[in-house]
Amino acid sequence: MNLSKKAMNMEPSMTLALTAKAGELKAQGVDVISFGVGEPDFNTPQNIIDAAILAMNQGKTKYTAVSGITELKEAIVKKFYNDNGLNYKSENIIVSTGGKQCLFNVFAAILNVGDEVLIPKPYWVSYPELVKLNDGIPVFVETNEEDDFKINFKNLEKSITNKTKAIVVNSPNNPTGSIYSKKELMEIADFAKKYDLYIISDEMYEKLTYGDNRHISIASLNEDAFNRTIVVNGLSKAYAMTGWRVGYAAGKKEIIKLMNNIQSHTTSNVNSIAQYASLEALTGQQEEMKIMQNEFDRRRKVMMKLLDDISDVSYIEPKGAFYILVNIEKILKKFKISGSSEFCEKLLDRENVVAIPGIAFGEDNYIRLSYATSMDSIETGLNRISNFIKNLNISTIY
Ligand code: PLP
Repeated sequence: MNLSKKAMNMEPSMTLALTAKAGELKAQGVDVISFGVGEPDFNTPQNIIDAAILAMNQGKTKYTAVSGITELKEAIVKKFYNDNGLNYKSENIIVSTGGKQCLFNVFAAILNVGDEVLIPKPYWVSYPELVKLNDGIPVFVETNEEDDFKINFKNLEKSITNKTKAIVVNSPNNPTGSIYSKKELMEIADFAKKYDLYIISDEMYEKLTYGDNRHISIASLNEDAFNRTIVVNGLSKAYAMTGWRVGYAAGKKEIIKLMNNIQSHTTSNVNSIAQYASLEALTGQQEEMKIMQNEFDRRRKVMMKLLDDISDVSYIEPKGAFYILVNIEKILKKFKISGSSEFCEKLLDRENVVAIPGIAFGEDNYIRLSYATSMDSIETGLNRISNFIKNLNISTIY
């Protein structure tokens, strides 16, 4: 019997598959270093864990409102006001099972068959699949490494058709670590106004910015941008809460209502205990989050320094998130390696190091390394990558 064409048209998440492979090898006793994971290696802060235990002991273990408990939505409203200068009400907020479900719900709420969504390349793996799953068409917009992989307006203009419905903005960016400035965001907002597009602003890494770099929400620029933007954010990355599965979105009441209707028939509310834990995360002490942020910054610097010593690779300095996108084009050409997948397979076979092939993000001349791993692993892992490349040199000489 036939299976769903839509489902068969979906690619599995390569990042999750490779992370799972690293886990299997580790379980077999192989000394694997993984630069694959998109999650903090720290445990969730204790105050958050305690809040979850308390919630369970108090019997807060029942269904809640589909869009989330009132206290959490109010805490999210406050967070948007304090951190981003955004003026939402509870009715503009929905809490979902991770940023991922927020994004699914957004596309389900705004797309009709054949609607096009502009996605700057390189992109986070799930955007195209989530668009396709909701009958839309992902339209990739090329960027250049020299521009820190930020949106190129010439390419953007060329990609517009009468079917274009929305544009995805992800800052701080996965996989590049780039952060858009206010001026750049203003240009995107003007572009969206000119063509009457929704802006889907994925701000998942907003708390992870380094040096003088600060996150600005595109929705905060002016009233028009506010009205056409759906902001997606969550607890996963900032509070080391990837497994709890809590994300939230904010936007116009009509859109949030549709997202709520969709969620009411799919997953209903987010796990009630995780919601109480999230309430503590947003309203309790923020010290540990800052400690984690500083540690990521320290690792980022070490990672860049070690990469500087490896010949034939380059990168742009990541300003946020916890990834570094490494250009391996010279190596691919020099050693006739077919692309980033073959490079990563060889690296895993020979040196037990997991890296994510850039092809997963639409850029085959790159690999993505996550620095959400211990300093020891960073040092050993980059040493192994360096050896791997040196040995490629030796094997071509002989
Ligand atoms: N957006 C980006 C850019 C991400 O990197 C991720 C996770 O890797 C998500 C959204 C989804 O996060 P979650 O569903 O874990 O909250």
